[in-house]
Amino acid sequence: MNIPCYPGCPTPDFIDVKLQNPDFVVCRHCRKILKMNGFGFVNTGSVSKMPHDMSPFEVGMEGDWNGKKFQIVGRKRYFFESGYYRNHWVILFANGTISWLTDSYGFYGIVSQIPFQLPSSRLAQAAPDSQMTLHDGNKYVIDCISSLISLDIEGEIPESQIQFSSLISLEFSYQNRLMAIVDWIGGAEQIYYQGQMVKYEDFLFKQPARSMKDWF
Ligand SMILES: [Zn+2]
Repeated sequence: MNIPCYPGCPTPDFIDVKLQNPDFVVCRHCRKILKMNGFGFVNTGSVSKMPHDMSPFEVGMEGDWNGKKFQIVGRKRYFFESGYYRNHWVILFANGTISWLTDSYGFYGIVSQIPFQLPSSRLAQAAPDSQMTLHDGNKYVIDCISSLISLDIEGEIPESQIQFSSLISLEFSYQNRLMAIVDWIGGAEQIYYQGQMVKYEDFLFKQPARSMKDWF
């Protein structure tokens, strides 16, 4: 799908949108955020330049994981109070399904959103290194609990919220490389991701990883 950018865009060509129903699209030329409003896209402000990090990925890369071809079409980048960051790359598989490739300091995962919610009372008592029973009945270890400072986005985002006054992100792991992430928003709403940890070698990319010179 091609959508027009804001008229003031220095390169006001159509933006080639890959997702069928993205909630937000960031123009890579003018960094305006276009929000889907039911009738089309409207300009809802702009984002600053994505901070540099050591991720080997970038929007536009195409690859293969587990025999399934995919393309990276967007990214959310969480920056937490502890100075820790985590990328959630939006990956669109050839069959039209969407997952997230998480990437943080050389640790990778493939996760999908599922409609599962933990009781807020249990999240309020969560502590690092303790255990919690999750969606599949297994007792996962809580690896870390982080408070969000800022969220940066680029490309296409298939989620309806991109600004948070309060977000706590909990990361869980279990045997056989299973993992989960819960974003707990304002002590109420939750976004629940479940999936598995993966290795960089599990991906076959058409293009070489982002080179060191692009990192700084
Ligand atoms: Zn633009």
